[in-house]
Amino acid sequence: MAKHNIPYVNLPAQGRDQMEDLKKIFEQVVLKGSFVGTHDDLAALEKRLAEYCGTAEAVALNSGTDALLLAMKIAGVGEGDEVITPPNSFVASTATIIQLGAKPVFADVLADQNIDPEKIAKAITPRTKAIMPVHLTGRICQMDEIMEIAHRHGLVVIEDAAQAIGSMYKGRLAGAIGHFGCFSAHPLKNLNALGDGGFVTTNDKAAAERMRRLRAHGMADRATIEEWGMVSRMDTLQAAILSYRLEKLPDVIAKRRDNAALYQKLLHHERMYVPTCRNEEFNTFHTFVVQVDKRDELQAHLKEIGIKTAIHYPVPIHLQPAAHALGHKKGDFPMTERQAERILTLPVNQYMSRADVETVASEVLAFLGR
Ligand SMILES: *Cc1c(COP(=O)(O)O)cnc(C)c1O
Repeated sequence: MAKHNIPYVNLPAQGRDQMEDLKKIFEQVVLKGSFVGTHDDLAALEKRLAEYCGTAEAVALNSGTDALLLAMKIAGVGEGDEVITPPNSFVASTATIIQLGAKPVFADVLADQNIDPEKIAKAITPRTKAIMPVHLTGRICQMDEIMEIAHRHGLVVIEDAAQAIGSMYKGRLAGAIGHFGCFSAHPLKNLNALGDGGFVTTNDKAAAERMRRLRAHGMADRATIEEWGMVSRMDTLQAAILSYRLEKLPDVIAKRRDNAALYQKLLHHERMYVPTCRNEEFNTFHTFVVQVDKRDELQAHLKEIGIKTAIHYPVPIHLQPAAHALGHKKGDFPMTERQAERILTLPVNQYMSRADVETVASEVLAFLGR
């Protein structure tokens, strides 16, 4: 038996907690008999999401990846265009740019792992069409600077807010600052479905209407195909579950912020970077990522004593085999590359007790003290 038993995530605990309510939702949806397509549960969820995120519209989709894809498509990103984005994200932000025939142009990140506005400014060319900042870990990027650059060059800003629902920057919510906000409801995200899910927020009503067409075969009505579309709608069961879980999201965020604050109080070491919260920020801590030397040894040690951690993400996108044709090499994005060797995601989920957080912190410090 390991000394501790602290999982990285605890979805079974969430399931146990909510089982009676989930069963009722399942029963209601099954008995209504409408599982995909336009339905009340979808419209109700979209209204709630738009309200929560502070935008005129939300469009529910089947994943955060399709949220990025459709937002860029509607923003006019296509063949030959360039989109500026960071190389340290989850792969979907770059992959969707490529799927549209456009070119990802990477800009390196700051110490806090978010895209560096100065590097964005330097990466702009006559072909640049859009900027896709990624609010990694639930911390919003430097959006004032980014929006200013975008206005100056006439660019669209598509926020990858997949990790940042409810996060704020100078009083503004993730997904309500750029032209489009793209969110994921993947089981590991803070607002999570029992499967894949995602949505786009925007204040552009015409764009939202077009997105609702494109997510369902491009149909204007049952007889009319307005343009070629795809199947990217969210199904009824996930929509009903997300409406229910959206009500619980403020508590989830509060608990994660409490856990993070306790880490921030306990974790001090000269060889470790610990994420802080700047005054203008409200971070939701989708992940709590420290940066530390001997990361692999620390992770292996924690695993051995029963503390599960993760790495988001071990190999930068520009160094992935799939990125070969983009022609990058090691050394192109030094901050991202250095962080990839030092980042470690500690468990911060809402099912951890204070004692669990204290245990993780003291074991990390004990290891580093050696
Ligand atoms: C999770 C995630 C996505 C993709 O969302 P899916 O719902 O899994 O398709 C995109 N970008 C980032 C930064 C993510 O964390």
